[in-house]
Amino acid sequence: MLGSDHRAPTRAPPRRGRIRRRPSERRLDAGLSVKANLEILTSLAKRRGFAYPSAEIYGGFQSTWDYGPLGVEMKRQIRELWWRSTVQARDDVVGIEAAVITNPAVWRASGHVDHFTDPLVDCLECRARVRADHIEGGVCPSCGAAGRFTEERSFNLLFRTYVGPVEEESSVAYLRPETAQGMFVNFDNVLTSTRRRLPLGIAQIGRSYRNEITPGQFIFRTREFEQMEMEFFCDPSESLAWHRYWKEERLRWYREALAVPAELLRLRDHGAEELAHYSGATADIEFRFPWGWGELEGVAHRGDFDLRAHAGASGRQLSYFDPEREQHVVPHVVEPAVGVDRILIALLFAAYDEETDDRGERRVVLRLAADVAPVEVAVLPLSRNERLVPTARAVWDELRPHFRTQYDDAQSIGRRYRRQDEIGTPQCVTVDFDTLDDHAVTIRDRDTMEQDRVPVPGLVEALRTRIEASRPQAGPPVEAPARGG
Ligand code: ATP
Repeated sequence: MLGSDHRAPTRAPPRRGRIRRRPSERRLDAGLSVKANLEILTSLAKRRGFAYPSAEIYGGFQSTWDYGPLGVEMKRQIRELWWRSTVQARDDVVGIEAAVITNPAVWRASGHVDHFTDPLVDCLECRARVRADHIEGGVCPSCGAAGRFTEERSFNLLFRTYVGPVEEESSVAYLRPETAQGMFVNFDNVLTSTRRRLPLGIAQIGRSYRNEITPGQFIFRTREFEQMEMEFFCDPSESLAWHRYWKEERLRWYREALAVPAELLRLRDHGAEELAHYSGATADIEFRFPWGWGELEGVAHRGDFDLRAHAGASGRQLSYFDPEREQHVVPHVVEPAVGVDRILIALLFAAYDEETDDRGERRVVLRLAADVAPVEVAVLPLSRNERLVPTARAVWDELRPHFRTQYDDAQSIGRRYRRQDEIGTPQCVTVDFDTLDDHAVTIRDRDTMEQDRVPVPGLVEALRTRIEASRPQAGPPVEAPARGG
């Protein structure tokens, strides 16, 4: 049975209802920071094929970006690493893929139709529309004028569309603003079809859409983005312990799977005034962006708010039958939620480095972990000499099934190393005239710039060993709460 407006909860919805940090708290503390600013990174991203302004030949489109060949490889790796650690490597999480456009009753019940709003004001000087909570010191972020704004009003962030041929109120539907509701409305289906017991996590990766008032800062905030969210359903008595566990576990993932330096990450527990009324605890994992600490991921304790809201609006029972206590329980939910695009921009900032080599030449290096680098191994013939090319291509053929590779024979070898450094390729394999006699190649390391001669027959293994050695050392696992107690 479908929900209807009069049965939808009138309480504030999960996310936007909360109070945001004061501007002063967003600023950087003194100390270690990232080396690139937004302009440097955006220009590198475009020049090398990570991301381009969308529809650039038509002048672009409002802070919208299209991903290029390197960007898509990196995004695939980020998703893959998240899915592996959040779903496949665990015994208590399964995955789903829900529809982007679904029954609008979902968004009425979740509170998004009525409450998914940001506070909007217009600058009386330049007419720019800005988010009231993004104004620092009363100054318009667009023109710099002080203190001249219209009254604050609420702006709903849902994208509306029409389903079917007739554009009328009854055919209005919404593009999903988060993937999370797909897990709540499928809770009973997943529980029944998998015959699982609590705790049980349901995970999903997919696009979400929000009509953000002020998108910007490259891919940090866009209107179309990709989320990786997991709803961890557990017994209410265990939910605070699971929340503590997931905060640490997710922080560990950034340090160990993505090799983000610990000093660029922090966990920030929300104060009581920031918590939604139903939430026992919420924390953000923040990254030190050049403009200050910013949210990378939220780890929210959502209590039983969503299941109860959907049970109320749909008339379906959304609970778990605990066989030991022989009673129905409405689980509590802990939700780690992050954006793929947001991780990508954070990784680029964390990796960006500039240095001057022995000969005084400037080198830009992206020190990306091999597991997220768009290219793991580049094959570079010393020249385009016709004797070298077949051997170099044969080496490339051998590596392609095992690694993300690129073959580059344009310009001098020095320039090609620089190009690979700039896109974060950890290893370059150079094929030279000696290769024709000794069947060996040179591996050049991105970070140390050291070179090693390695026989072609053992090349795959040698590269694998180097990638393995470059991974951060795994620390002790985060201890999970005892199950069922
Ligand atoms: P914000 O306060 O920055 O608007 P939020 O707290 O509303 O974000 P959530 O709803 O908790 O964000 O979304 C979970 C995650 O999804 C965020 O931590 C972020 O990584 C990502 N995300 C949210 N909105 C956007 C967006 N407009 N563009 C890119 N990523 C986003």
